[in-house]
Amino acid sequence: MTAITQPPTTPEFSGTGTILNPATGAVAGEVRWTDPSDVPAITAELRAAQREWEQHGAKERATALARFAVWLGEHRSEIEELLIKETGKSAVDAGQEVPLLIMILAYYIKTMEKALAPARRPAALPFLAIKKITIHYRPRPVVGIIAPWNYPVANALMDAIGALAAGCAVLLKPSERTPLTAELLRRGWRESGAPDVFGIAQGARAVSEAVVDSVDFIQFTGSTATGRKVMERAARRLTPVSLELGGKDPMIVLEDADVELAAHAAVWGAMFNAGQTCVSVERVYVLEPVYQRFVDAVVRDVQALHVGAGEGHFGALIDESQLAVTERHVADAKAKGAQVLTGGRRADGPGSFYLPTVLVDVDHSMACMTEETFGPTLPIMKVATVDEAIRLANASPYGLSASVFSRDVERAKDIALQLDCGAVNINDVISNLMCTTAPMGGWKASGIGARFGGVEGLRKYCRAETVVVPRTSVGGGFAYYNNSLKTLARMNRMMTRLALAGPRRAARAAKPAKPTRTAT
Ligand code: NAD
Repeated sequence: MTAITQPPTTPEFSGTGTILNPATGAVAGEVRWTDPSDVPAITAELRAAQREWEQHGAKERATALARFAVWLGEHRSEIEELLIKETGKSAVDAGQEVPLLIMILAYYIKTMEKALAPARRPAALPFLAIKKITIHYRPRPVVGIIAPWNYPVANALMDAIGALAAGCAVLLKPSERTPLTAELLRRGWRESGAPDVFGIAQGARAVSEAVVDSVDFIQFTGSTATGRKVMERAARRLTPVSLELGGKDPMIVLEDADVELAAHAAVWGAMFNAGQTCVSVERVYVLEPVYQRFVDAVVRDVQALHVGAGEGHFGALIDESQLAVTERHVADAKAKGAQVLTGGRRADGPGSFYLPTVLVDVDHSMACMTEETFGPTLPIMKVATVDEAIRLANASPYGLSASVFSRDVERAKDIALQLDCGAVNINDVISNLMCTTAPMGGWKASGIGARFGGVEGLRKYCRAETVVVPRTSVGGGFAYYNNSLKTLARMNRMMTRLALAGPRRAARAAKPAKPTRTAT
């Protein structure tokens, strides 16, 4: 079998590099690496261009984003062809990235003006009623986006859209394994007539660090280990960060679930993009009464899958190192007593393909149940009670998302609220990603902050500036030193009395809290 590796894993990222298709070994394209010492100048140029972009106002920026959305729609096949070449994805997996971006663009184009409009706030106490309080959302000048390789188009742009909409300039640092599609996207930004507020720095760690050192906000998507390093480095300049990191998403299948639906969802959630999805289904807990039916349905579905770039259900793993993680997890599980019901090895022939794999008799002593695999594996564990399923689902350093399958939606909702993660899909997997009105983010080692989605996905790229204006010609002056010390002390007493009135009323009215509902 010929092993095909990506050349950019060499430590040198100077001059130009050749990117190979991990499925075929053919040349996918060439990239010019950025010299890390050039990054401050690139950032400075973006910072200069950003001023005008901010001054355009939200309405004009929405028009620019709309033109870009149209460009994406018109160039969808070109983008997907390059994606397949660069990543070895299947066509169906590559086909998911552009529509998601257009959905996010469409949502922000429609809502950004209102979301970014100055917000009036009332005075909390009567003596402040002479003030008019307004919050203005001012963009952070340059947002650095450091992206992974698994969704080279979506992961780069789903965050860039919010930043550009907010009025920031963006400096994108794509993964060194997938630099080509990013260049195509920037070409699209320019061809759609938008100003030069979208820059790219190509390279690996050194360029990434230079980006962290020069921008005003960092949106990082990648592994938890690298996210930690990014945050540590950003702390040197007190640069704020938003981190979207790894995951080990659990699925819980209750005894009253639609087993066929749960099995279809588990297989799709675990296998699409060859399992290289942050929110993929990485482990399943099934209640004993439906366990065997669920396992049989999953194996049947998995055995119907075809692996192959372009025309397969899912394509290659990005490189040999990713394949090695999958192999290690399967070997470790087998050594500790797990059974492989189907798959369990790399595919015959060239390219970094791994067969879709179902594991049973697994437990939390095995890496496949505790560490992120990022490969096409589906470990399934039988549990005796719902409490056991919840306890095991939460027994992870990660907390990105989860899913619960039950015909009793209220019961599933109760379970959802006992899971420690950023999103729970009921009777579905991954669908929260399509909910552009809600922020998407992880808990615990899966992240800090949230990425795109909702008003939060715009305001995170802004600094709130509060402007306080007198309502009348009477400004402040009540507490200045032109008053006697006696008057100032009287003022302080009066402010205390006024401020305490509300808490006193609330304390008198307080009733004991109602007990919360339990899951079982
Ligand atoms: P990675 O952490 O190796 O690299 C991510 C990015 O960080 C790359 O652009 C890389 O060049 C850069 N980088 C590497 N070292 C750096 C350093 N010391 N300082 C700054 N930047 C550095 O991740 P990956 O292998 O590209 O992607 C896979 C990981 O991404 C998985 O763990 C996956 O779960 C995670 N991911 C998370 C989400 C999410 O939304 N939560 C989405 C996609 C991927």
